[in-house]
Amino acid sequence: MSALTPVPIAALPLERFAPVIGDPAYRRLMDRFARGRDLLGGHAMWNVNSTARGGGVAEMLVSLLAYGRGAGIDARWEVIRGDEAFFTVTKRIHNHLHGAAGDGRPLDGEARAVYEAVTRAAGEDLANRIVPGDVVLLHDPQTVGMIPVLKRLGVPVVWRCHVGIDDPDGLTRRAWGFLRDYVRQADAYVFSRRQYVWGDLDPAKTVLIAPSIDAFSAKNQELSQAQVSGILSAAGLQDSDPAVDGDASFARLDTSPGRVERPAEADQGRPLRPDDVMVLQVSRWDGLKDPLGVIDGFVRHVLPNSKAHLVYAGPSVEAIADDPEGRSVLAAAREYYGALSDEARERVHLVTLPMTDLEENAAVVNALQRRAHVVVQKSIAEGFGLTVAEAMWKSRPVVASRIGGIQDQIEDGRSGWLVGPRDLAAYGNAVVRLAGDPRAAAAMGGLARLRVRGGYLGSRSLLQYIALFERLLL
Ligand code: UDP
Repeated sequence: MSALTPVPIAALPLERFAPVIGDPAYRRLMDRFARGRDLLGGHAMWNVNSTARGGGVAEMLVSLLAYGRGAGIDARWEVIRGDEAFFTVTKRIHNHLHGAAGDGRPLDGEARAVYEAVTRAAGEDLANRIVPGDVVLLHDPQTVGMIPVLKRLGVPVVWRCHVGIDDPDGLTRRAWGFLRDYVRQADAYVFSRRQYVWGDLDPAKTVLIAPSIDAFSAKNQELSQAQVSGILSAAGLQDSDPAVDGDASFARLDTSPGRVERPAEADQGRPLRPDDVMVLQVSRWDGLKDPLGVIDGFVRHVLPNSKAHLVYAGPSVEAIADDPEGRSVLAAAREYYGALSDEARERVHLVTLPMTDLEENAAVVNALQRRAHVVVQKSIAEGFGLTVAEAMWKSRPVVASRIGGIQDQIEDGRSGWLVGPRDLAAYGNAVVRLAGDPRAAAAMGGLARLRVRGGYLGSRSLLQYIALFERLLL
């Protein structure tokens, strides 16, 4: 059996960027792509990560690789095929890298044996298909064990690390110790921010590229009020609005019209009414996204002081093989919800979104983000937090933890509010203020959109990746 699963990639036109980034920047993008394509000379640019759906890495690969394809680059995407034991170990690495104990077990010899068996097989599988001249981009800790096998072929191998923590502790350092010797063999390492770069890596091989969002994807494309309303009511999340003629269609990657037909599993709470004030967090069911803290802070500090509703929306947990903790985190959130007062249960909504149709899932997330009066991201740890940029792009005021890459995106008090990750009162008070002051919320949302336009759109990441490959191939 193959140790990797290929993921199909669409082809998207770079021309889409022209109206958003302006003509000179667009021409620069086209020129750089033409040079990159010439340098690759028809060779493939392989990407490997641990999931095709759910989470920020998959989200970015879908778009960035499609623009590469659209510009004539032979971009390929493979997902590492692991069993439960492998993903339990890689989730442990992920948790430890973020200073969280996770399942409480160590990254010992047994963990390494499990890790190496899968990553070595994946490396050998890819090695059989690579030819000299190809380049490889491996994403996150799940794939670094492939580096030694691939380096024997002499092709350029880049490790793209999407995770990181501001202040590494002992647990984090030991997790890094688990990965370091593989990582050092790569030709370049890409981190999302300077604070995440490990001091024992070669600075000459280190590159910084912040994540970005695709303004034109089903997740971020413009939606009219009729579409927002239509998509949410088709998904079963909101009563239809008598004042708006609902339209559940949205543009898919291939631009054929799509229609949201399958309801979301709104497993808790009543459907929203069109005039309910909505506070939203969109996140995987992961302890580091702190679903219980999001609910607790809302119940303690927002519920008594406003009429707002909280929606916590995450993917259906069965769909995400690389995150074995999803099930238990969702179960804990449901249990917590079950113990709330009647009034709190009326106003808290736990939503699991099917992942069978990724664009449909994205359209529902898009509609939720546009419908929200305030978006929160109260994570305990966050490499970057694409959900923050997504909400900011939609001119939403965001209240988020003062951690990781969130601090790069939000200028505190201007394009959003930063709060201590465990400061429930600060989070609740900021939400109440914004929910009760639409003018302040709109002003903050306007600045948030400009912030994303200036720094976090895919065109910037694409230019940086091309520059990196030019450096490696010249
Ligand atoms: N997401 C989604 N559906 C969901 C929950 C999350 O499409 O039900 C997306 C979300 O919109 C964002 C990504 O998953 O694009 C999460 O990326 P982020 O960087 O915020 O966190 P990660 O999951 O990578 O830790």
